[in-house]
Amino acid sequence: MQFIDLAAQQNRIRDKIEANIQAVLDHGKYIMGPEIKTLESRLAEYVGVKHAIGCASGTDALLMALLACRIGPGDAVFTTPFTFIATAEVISLLGAVPVFVDIDSESFNIDPAKLDLAIQAVKNNDPMIYPIPCANLNTNVPRRSSTSKDENGHPLPITPKGVIGVDIFGLPADYERIGSVAQEHDLFVIEDAAQSFGAQLNGTKACSFGNIACTSFFPAKPLGCYGDGGMCFTDDDELSTVMESLRVHGKGDHKYDNVRIGINGRLDSLQAGILLAKFDIFPEEIELRQQVANRYATLLGPFSPIKVPSVPPGATSAWAQYSVLATDEPQRTELQNNLKEAGIPTAIYYPQPLHLQSAFSSLGYKKGDFPISEDCAWRIFSLPMHPYLTAEEQKNIAEVISNSDE
Ligand SMILES: *Cc1c(COP(=O)(O)O)cnc(C)c1O
Repeated sequence: MQFIDLAAQQNRIRDKIEANIQAVLDHGKYIMGPEIKTLESRLAEYVGVKHAIGCASGTDALLMALLACRIGPGDAVFTTPFTFIATAEVISLLGAVPVFVDIDSESFNIDPAKLDLAIQAVKNNDPMIYPIPCANLNTNVPRRSSTSKDENGHPLPITPKGVIGVDIFGLPADYERIGSVAQEHDLFVIEDAAQSFGAQLNGTKACSFGNIACTSFFPAKPLGCYGDGGMCFTDDDELSTVMESLRVHGKGDHKYDNVRIGINGRLDSLQAGILLAKFDIFPEEIELRQQVANRYATLLGPFSPIKVPSVPPGATSAWAQYSVLATDEPQRTELQNNLKEAGIPTAIYYPQPLHLQSAFSSLGYKKGDFPISEDCAWRIFSLPMHPYLTAEEQKNIAEVISNSDE
């Protein structure tokens, strides 16, 4: 059994994929070929936003979004510690400080009430309100500029600038509440939709929330290519123009007119061609994923020794992962071992919340700062999830799980 069966998908559309690759080999426009614009307009239309900007990865999409929002040293960007490292990594890379906010125990997404507390804690430089990076200082940021100290040599406090909401496992975060907290404090919102392309919230598609949304086409994501790729989405004309420039070394009117510092962040024509072939069947695959999730919920249901994911009213998930909670860490280990013995692969997303990763140790967070993220990290694991998982396979998985209870 496959954890994510990319071969089953390829078998369905192999001819179309090969034809699209062939077309790129024939026209030879490997960089910014016609496939890029076609893909951007098709995905923008699907999501329901004005602009889509293809780029080299989901990480570059986040980096371009933060650059477009002018994030730099001295800035605080709020996000969840229960995500892939890339979400917070790009904040630190720009010399800004990631400020973590614990998650909601049902959705695994950032808790808007705690977001408000964290912003207040940073503004008042008061860790009694909510855990904040050590002393709320940017002394811990690598390559920080000397300008971040005051005349007495004391590091200056950080300034709240933005929020990155993460749609973990494919379920959109609560952008209505995140948006109103952000608005109250005059912060921008970025949607990390790396896992949620194809999901919805109150009739609106993921990748359309916040000022800029970012997705990833890493092979294992709901819409994946055969390498690295990503995309930024926005309704804002100006942000779109800036991000188009950023992805090509900050280009101005032409390639050798450089108006800002940017990156080499383009999406390959070949990957865009592959994505166009896959996008043809994507809406159907999202429905198939939903059927697989429904079957899991029925099979594992309320009697199982594990807790199945819940989807809030008005939302649909893209089901990038089907993540369940065991009662404790030993039970998770036992369940994973039993499944492994039965030939069923599982994975843990994510075994270590970001505030406890050594890469972020200089922020000075400690165990206990974000109890819900920590509790989930010790108990969570993901079952096989892809559009082509059969009812038979799922029954088998459910049996191994319920037999583990005896
Ligand atoms: C995959 C992922 C990213 C990074 O995407 P890449 O294309 O691998 O760079 C960022 N955030 C989240 C939540 C992800 O799952």
